[in-house]
Amino acid sequence: MFRILGLPPTLGGLSARQLQGMQHPGDRGRAQALNEAVVAGDGPLESQLRYVLGDGRVVHLLSRRSVLRDAQGRPTAMLGVTLDVTERQEQQVLAGENARRIALMARAAGVGWWAVEGEPARLTWSEELRRMVGLAAEEAVPPPNTWIERYVHPGDRQRLHESLQTWRLEGRTSLDFSFRLLAPGGRVLDIVSHAAFEPHGAHPARFGMLIDVTERRQAARELHDERERTALAVGGAGIGIWEWFARDNAARWDENMFRLRGLEPRESALTHEERMALVHPDDREMVRRLSERSAGERTPFAYEFRIVRPDGAVRWIASRSVDLPDTATGERRRIGANWDVTDRRVAEQARRDVEVALRESQAKSRFLARMSHELRTPLNAVLGFAQLLQAEPPDRTASDAARRQSIAHIQRAGEHLLTLINDVLDLARIEAGEMMLERAALPLADLVRYALPLVQPQAGAAGVRITTGALDLAVLGDETRLRQVLLNLLSNGIKYNRAGGEVHVDAVAAGALVHLRVRDSGRGIEPAQLAGLFQPFNRLGAEHEAIEGTGIGLAIVKSLVERMGGHVQVSSTPGAGSLFEVVLPRDTASADQASPAAVHAASMGIAPGAGAGPVLSDPPAAANALTHATAQSDATDHAPARERHVLYIEDNVVNALIVREVLATVPGYRLTVAADGASGLALALRDPPELVLLDMQLPDMDGFSVLRGLRAQPRTAPLPVVALSANVMPDQVSRGMAAGLTDYWTKPLDMALFLQNMARLLPPHAG
Ligand code: ADP
Repeated sequence: MFRILGLPPTLGGLSARQLQGMQHPGDRGRAQALNEAVVAGDGPLESQLRYVLGDGRVVHLLSRRSVLRDAQGRPTAMLGVTLDVTERQEQQVLAGENARRIALMARAAGVGWWAVEGEPARLTWSEELRRMVGLAAEEAVPPPNTWIERYVHPGDRQRLHESLQTWRLEGRTSLDFSFRLLAPGGRVLDIVSHAAFEPHGAHPARFGMLIDVTERRQAARELHDERERTALAVGGAGIGIWEWFARDNAARWDENMFRLRGLEPRESALTHEERMALVHPDDREMVRRLSERSAGERTPFAYEFRIVRPDGAVRWIASRSVDLPDTATGERRRIGANWDVTDRRVAEQARRDVEVALRESQAKSRFLARMSHELRTPLNAVLGFAQLLQAEPPDRTASDAARRQSIAHIQRAGEHLLTLINDVLDLARIEAGEMMLERAALPLADLVRYALPLVQPQAGAAGVRITTGALDLAVLGDETRLRQVLLNLLSNGIKYNRAGGEVHVDAVAAGALVHLRVRDSGRGIEPAQLAGLFQPFNRLGAEHEAIEGTGIGLAIVKSLVERMGGHVQVSSTPGAGSLFEVVLPRDTASADQASPAAVHAASMGIAPGAGAGPVLSDPPAAANALTHATAQSDATDHAPARERHVLYIEDNVVNALIVREVLATVPGYRLTVAADGASGLALALRDPPELVLLDMQLPDMDGFSVLRGLRAQPRTAPLPVVALSANVMPDQVSRGMAAGLTDYWTKPLDMALFLQNMARLLPPHAG
């Protein structure tokens, strides 16, 4: 006893008090009650109590005690035996703990177990198994076989009975099966079970484990559904999926890959050759190149190509692919998708066609607007002077000189119109491809020799010298049309030159091409204007000068040269001159017949004056007219006040002349002409008129700017301003009216209407 309590043995023994003092405080009450019960009763009593030893250790002591009594039954002594059960107690606690942990784990893992052991056979169900089916701890476990009827899903019962039956009969040691278990609340659990038969123990025993895999199955099912859905979506959208394995250079195709190509699905993918045979011939090279690259490179690929289906239908296919190593083997694999983009491509093409058509129609409208403007200017002269001649009163015969001048104006305008119409027709024929062009060997020296005499008079009049350089080359082209080209360039070189300037012609070879060059020392072209150079009717502002032209020449040059398989290039330095180059295929077969010297001789011979230095031409007739008109207006500046003062801002001398003459047919008007916007504004301020006639295209600014300038000054702001314009396009007219014009009259002028309108806006003073 002393050893158990860790005390040194003493002869006097242990007092009851001492012993009580060592009792665990938590057990003291129970010990007291126990003693009292022993004293009160007669049988021995057993108890397990904790004692705290001197070193603080707690021991569990199991004691059995009884009371000795005297004859009268009074207790005389208490006897007892004590057993140290500390170790057993600790093991029990540990076992309990382990059992609790296992139960927790079983719970967490959804694992239940059952066992049939002993003789007679005893059936045990684990706590988790009971929980799975909702069988309370106090309820009895149903006997074998009946549990199947109670807890197994009806659909699985028969199969389970049979498996268990065979298992028992065959005496196999283990059995794996799965079934559905009916859980509380109508839930159905998916169970995987492993059962074992242990035949070698004292009594044969069977054990089983049931694992709840409902959640896992659910996840798998969802994944499967998801895959099905994706496959459906992919299939529905007509997307074909392919895989390519680098290891054996093999491909796998899904059904859509075949359907996209108008084929019935097959077991294995098409071979490279079969695939290529279906690709549109125009795209084959590109597809072959790209698919070779995609086999080598690991970057994503995206491209579109056409296929020709067996029934001949052409479809557009989009292809995207990425490198994605096989998840199972880690080997290199490429995954790609194909889908049909024909509808999109067709729509895109339709949109592009519409855009092109729109651009073309806009270009046509611009062309027509410009042409209409160009036609109206000479027509204005023809009709204006014709009306003037007709309006001459029979009694008042105009001087012969004046009449001749009017007729000369009509003739010049008519000739200009004719050129214009011929040029327009030429251009239209070239662009419509109606003009047949030859492709003959043309020695350039011959060509230049022909052209020079034709432009020599013009050069002489302008005081421009024409010189030639090396021309010992031949090109391939149409002789007549190349002459036309050269004449046009030479004529421009002369027209846009200065007195004393030069035009130089030569040719250089550049590989298989020849550059025929026309260089002038003229005004040059501003870089911003180069873009408009070849536009029909675009004269880059030259229309405001006295230089004659239609603005179509260079458009024709360009079209003709391009039709001959060449092109035209221009370089220019404003103020210093321009270089026009006609680049054509070189003819190497024919030798150069004419020497440059011969050309020189030819040009000299025909225009002996040209080489001798600048020859100043007389000022052009038009410039004369302008001087005359301005002078006349100056002279009438101080005319009697009762005449109504009209200011006409117009750069075209003929137009100004017509208005002057027309107004002169009725009394009461005084006309001042200003040749550009700035002088018009200055004149209007200096001597405010009562009405302004305004050309909308002036050399220095447009009519809108002039109008703004007039409106900005108090003296000129209230003046009626009428546009007199050859631009009759409705948008231009409405823009002008919106800008504050009083009226918009169009050219060519209708004399009667013009006078009628003048009388309405500015009636002459009576008397
Ligand atoms: P145009 O009948 O007006 O001469 P072109 O089509 O031949 O028509 O030329 C278009 C415009 O290009 C001319 O109005 C002129 O402004 C400009 N241009 C053509 N050739 C030259 C040149 N050699 N130097 C300067 N400007 C030129």
